[in-house]
Amino acid sequence: MSSLRIANGTVLTMTPDCAPIPGGVVCMDGGLISYAGPAEGAPPHSGEEIIDAGGCVVLPGLVNAHTHLAMTLFRGYADDMALQTWLEDWIWPAEMRLTAEDVYWGALLGTCEMLRAGVTCFNDMYHMPDQAVRAAIDGGIRACPSGVLLGFLPNAQDLLEEAIAFVGQLKDEGHPRVHPMLAPHAVYTCPDAMLEKVGEAATQLEVPIHIHLAETASEVRDSYDEHGESPIEHLNTLGLLDIPMLAAHCVHLSEADIALLAEKQVGIAHCPTSNMKLASGFAPVVALLEAGAIVGLGTDGCASNNNLDVLEEVHLAALLEKGDSGDPTVLPAPTALAMATRLAAQALHLGDMIGTLEAGKRADVIVVDMSRPHLQPPRDPFSHLVYAARAADVRTTIVEGEVIMDEDEILTVDEAEVIARATECADLLLG
Ligand SMILES: [Zn+2]
Repeated sequence: MSSLRIANGTVLTMTPDCAPIPGGVVCMDGGLISYAGPAEGAPPHSGEEIIDAGGCVVLPGLVNAHTHLAMTLFRGYADDMALQTWLEDWIWPAEMRLTAEDVYWGALLGTCEMLRAGVTCFNDMYHMPDQAVRAAIDGGIRACPSGVLLGFLPNAQDLLEEAIAFVGQLKDEGHPRVHPMLAPHAVYTCPDAMLEKVGEAATQLEVPIHIHLAETASEVRDSYDEHGESPIEHLNTLGLLDIPMLAAHCVHLSEADIALLAEKQVGIAHCPTSNMKLASGFAPVVALLEAGAIVGLGTDGCASNNNLDVLEEVHLAALLEKGDSGDPTVLPAPTALAMATRLAAQALHLGDMIGTLEAGKRADVIVVDMSRPHLQPPRDPFSHLVYAARAADVRTTIVEGEVIMDEDEILTVDEAEVIARATECADLLLG
């Protein structure tokens, strides 16, 4: 693995209350960060490759805390529909026809899109997760893969056994960029016995659980009808909140739910675009953060977003909270950016590995070009990144100490081929 030094940029370490470090230095060696801080304290240059980040901001790679990556194939396929119609009449029937090659090329297309947007880690929940792993390894991105478990499928039991075996295999292989989870789709799509089995397996394998939770008002109503408690309370009754968990959406919450999510340190993936597009509602993000809950950001899949642009989620999350609360002081820019870096990493239970620029952490680093007209004149980099920057401003993406995207070029895969093959798959699948 190569040694790298990024110099002359403004460094945002994204540690709590960090101040921008103008002309800072980030050194990487063997896939790890060896130094991040002011130039004065940096170790002497010892012949490593230097990336000049003059006019740029250097920060941790962005984390997409919830997606369904191969759904890039469904981009633009079924818009402007209610969640249940969208899922039951459009998405699930098409997904029954998916092949392994569809999932691979769809996931690789998503990988290219994310690397360009400075996303260095994604948390996936999708069918044939071995193909997402294959795409992540080929593309050079960090992945938290999991197969989606749906209790109503005729082969649900087999899929559960397969998912457990798959996680066990990935744990044995120990790829440094692959961090598997187990993913029951939701409380309303998985019977209690299945959720309990997932809980046992997750404990045994020491992996987190990835689940959709309290996404819609009807889901919560149905949970009270069926179980006499909210979906969050029901997971607690089943003992699942004592296992590391990443819960996507968490839109419709009672005060008791918020307290429980904070107490159990459940990682939350807030998905502002998806929640707005599917009219799911407004997640109480400020109340969650104030209660001490861990809230990261996710794009959700490309059929409900329709892109994988985490910087756009940062922008929307900040604006949405202000618009919804009537208070322009809530969710200030540094907090919004933390939700795509430090807090998102913590939400995935990878907080000791990624999410900040600190010696000893994995070297997932991005360089954003701040010299463009829409980012001038130079001012607070938090403000510019949250309120003015775009995915295309990301100049360099580094994962595990390797430069994967630089100067508008992805260095790991042939992007033109990926686009052609993914388009072919989508045409065959959806017509
Ligand atoms: Zn989702």
